[in-house]
Amino acid sequence: MKVINDLLYEDDGTQCQFEKDIKYGGDLAACEYIVMHCTTGPTAQSAISSFHREGLSTHLVIDRDGTVTQCVPFNKIAWHTGSSQWADKGYRAVDSDNLSNYSIGIEMVNWEGDFYKVDDHWVKQKKISLPDEDIFFGISKHGYPVHGCGWQKYPPEQIEKAVEVVKALVAAYSETLLDVVGHEDIKKEWENGEQVFFKNDKQGDPNTDREDPGPAFPMASFRARVLALQEGAPEDFEVFFRDVVPDYRWLIDQPELYGRNWKQGRTGPKALASHDIVQVVERKDWWAKVVAKNIDGTPFEGWMPERYLKRIPPPVKEKEALKEKEEIVAQPQAVIPPVNEAAEEINKDKGKVPKKPHQPPIIPV
Ligand SMILES: [Zn+2]
Repeated sequence: MKVINDLLYEDDGTQCQFEKDIKYGGDLAACEYIVMHCTTGPTAQSAISSFHREGLSTHLVIDRDGTVTQCVPFNKIAWHTGSSQWADKGYRAVDSDNLSNYSIGIEMVNWEGDFYKVDDHWVKQKKISLPDEDIFFGISKHGYPVHGCGWQKYPPEQIEKAVEVVKALVAAYSETLLDVVGHEDIKKEWENGEQVFFKNDKQGDPNTDREDPGPAFPMASFRARVLALQEGAPEDFEVFFRDVVPDYRWLIDQPELYGRNWKQGRTGPKALASHDIVQVVERKDWWAKVVAKNIDGTPFEGWMPERYLKRIPPPVKEKEALKEKEEIVAQPQAVIPPVNEAAEEINKDKGKVPKKPHQPPIIPV
């Protein structure tokens, strides 16, 4: 797969199916995140029909057989996150600042969770029925679902296609892209230990909760594969508290004691503040175990919610990306030397700019 002019193409050069007439917004502020979702439906067509009906949108829909449909060019805003928040982006008081302005949305066709067992099959909303082998048994990061712990599995062909697609996006938007997250990660927010509902959401409306793509989606291995990371290896992040919590917080030592709340557990010699750099060494549900540095440089560790962490891509990758860019720039000079000669002609005619000594064409290595 490859991205050309913000549209997705197969390796053989054929453009992926593009669904016209889906509504979308203005220019994306920057592509910093890829947000994974699931459709809570049976087919790509049913998801696309609901986008038409509800005036929502997403950039890509990946069907269960791996068929990809693009609905919105990658440089335009698709309305896929709703009010949302992650690290330094999004804040419930500023609607225009949600993650849709900074991300590409990908919908995986999947019925999501809340299946419960009746006799030898699993049902949801009384009318949807799946056999045992299609069910992943578990609970979401946030402790849901309400009725049952069955989630529809993602077929390997769908996951493999998503890996291919997201690798192409990571390559195309490497200058700005920071991380891959799930809708379940960015949708919820807590303030001083209490769940906060976003400005436009009705208080207590369960529809404000998002559990997609859910525990059946292999997020840890998926993220490692598309970002070319070693799964579980330490990674650097910058802390951003913004306005949702006090401007400094203590790490805690036992997140399981606090459930969804980040109370004053106080572990380590120093509280964290915005812009501190920490290393994530372990993840569990929506918690991250981080290693921070004391004033004297000695390390200490503890847990904090992932949502206040902005990934710092490794410098090696940045250098590689820069090197590739230099090679692309250098190439035309190597193959089209007459351009330089023409420029020298103009300089000579003007008689003002001193003629540069002739430089040999740069041959990319
Ligand atoms: Zn979603």
